[in-house]
Amino acid sequence: MNAELDEWLGAGSAAVADWAGHVRRLAQRGNLGAARGLLLDLPALAQPHACRSGTCAPGLREPRRRSCCADLDVEVTPGESARITEALAEVAAWMQPRDARWSGEAPERFDGSMLRRPGRRCIFAASDAAGLTCSLHAVEDATGRPRGALKPMPCRLFPLVVVDLGDGHVLLTALARHTSPLAGGGGAAAFPCLRRGDDPTLAESAADTLEELWSRPVARAVVRAVARWRANAAG
Ligand code: SF4
Repeated sequence: MNAELDEWLGAGSAAVADWAGHVRRLAQRGNLGAARGLLLDLPALAQPHACRSGTCAPGLREPRRRSCCADLDVEVTPGESARITEALAEVAAWMQPRDARWSGEAPERFDGSMLRRPGRRCIFAASDAAGLTCSLHAVEDATGRPRGALKPMPCRLFPLVVVDLGDGHVLLTALARHTSPLAGGGGAAAFPCLRRGDDPTLAESAADTLEELWSRPVARAVVRAVARWRANAAG
């Protein structure tokens, strides 16, 4: 597990709910997998997923649709806050030509805790006809910083959910129909990224993130476990 994920779990920022009961139910139904020490919520990781922010951005989306960058509360850890604060001038330089919210003086754009959402989207999300673009992600790429140098952990994970079960086990799950009451987010059905049946599985679409947060062998093992479960479920 990488240092930022360890820090985030240690800060108690992960979703708090009765995940132990969820794990028991998964096991009873044959839906609990394992890959290199991680417990896997196989139905959650097998759901289709692809990020197309033009389908969820305010002003572009259909009614009753939600976006991780517009509608979810994102709390940052002290470490994330310090890194963002240090890079705020670079982020402002990226945002100013693209986003009117960043022109002129506005000392309260980032207060070091919860990401603000003036104008119905995250203060770090630029909007155009194609959808939303994360300026923290863009500045990371433009400056050669690794992913996570600026982008907060919940944003890197979404719609994945990582749960420290407190008994030495970590569960990898996701916002999904069967986890919505535990994972929050207002229900998986509202997110267009989780609705199109011909998209890759979430395990496949999130493989790069899994590799960044654990390792390539872990990412491959998760993808394989989900593919095996899907094949068995299909009969
Ligand atoms: S920090 Fe970036 S990824 Fe996270 S909510 Fe804001 S715009 Fe979206």
